[in-house]
Amino acid sequence: MAAWRVVAPGPVSGSPLAWGREAIPEPAPGELLVKVLACGVCRTDLHVSEGDLPVHRPRVTPGHEVVGEVAAVGDSAAGSFAVGDRVGIAWLRHTCGRCAACLRGAENLCRQSRYTGWDADGGYAEFATVPADYALRLPDGYTDNELAPLLCAGIIGYRALERAAVPDGGVLGIYGFGGSAHLTAQVALTRGIRVHVMTRGKQARELAEHLGAASVQGVRDAPPEPLDSAILFAPVGDLVPVAMEALADGGTLAVAGIHLTDIPPLDYQRHLFRERQICSVTANTRSDSVEFLRIAAEHRLSIDVHPYPLDRADRALRDLAGGKFSGAAVLEP
Ligand SMILES: [Zn+2]
Ligand SMILES: [Zn+2]
Repeated sequence: MAAWRVVAPGPVSGSPLAWGREAIPEPAPGELLVKVLACGVCRTDLHVSEGDLPVHRPRVTPGHEVVGEVAAVGDSAAGSFAVGDRVGIAWLRHTCGRCAACLRGAENLCRQSRYTGWDADGGYAEFATVPADYALRLPDGYTDNELAPLLCAGIIGYRALERAAVPDGGVLGIYGFGGSAHLTAQVALTRGIRVHVMTRGKQARELAEHLGAASVQGVRDAPPEPLDSAILFAPVGDLVPVAMEALADGGTLAVAGIHLTDIPPLDYQRHLFRERQICSVTANTRSDSVEFLRIAAEHRLSIDVHPYPLDRADRALRDLAGGKFSGAAVLEP
């Protein structure tokens, strides 16, 4: 099969990834072998390729928004999925099931968790494997390309929305408007939340307006009203004080990314007092995935997909880094 591997983590303006041929992986006991039909390009793939995240598996194949078809079922993985089923492979692929975090339903915080496209090979390839217990059933009514961005951008955005604790009918500010934000905004709108978008880039602003944002302005501009909650999708620590200052009393800022540049010093009175708070968002639980995919089945989300052939993943990552498109890039084998 053909597959990409991160051979020399570094700026995507160079060549951190190599494209080559290799054997189709064997599903281990409990795993499924999946023929990849579409794989989304997530900002985390950029962080893995550029070395912002430490190397967990040398020469890893990135990609954790995989929509595919079950091609083979490993020993003891039968029962849940059969050959030919459409299935999703997402970021979370292992937790211990025994630690305090796992036992209280916070498996996203399991210290033994493992991730697709970081600890194990992912979907920038023609085939990928996944533990059957972590494979996801997908909603009907979407194309393979539309489903792919739901599997990380959608799920993580959903968890960020939950962490941001927006009151019903409240006001949400979204900083940065890419693949995850454009899905999260739609979920918020289904809850009657007013959404203000702060982003750069003409295409992203047009997309935000088209989807129903109450206002759209530059990343450092103040929204037209105080925010009950905000989500920072842009991996830019400089925006933390900007967003904190835009919060209403008691408001919460959720930082959605796995990587963030340094946060400048905060001024207690200006940014935090009046019970404003900041929280991070760390991966997701399987129940987050199931809940978000249930919402996607109930409310037809509009997904802005930019397809690239699988063999142009390097270009897709460069375009993502350069903010060349709005919405989400998807690789097609
Ligand atoms: Zn655990
Ligand atoms: Zn992701």
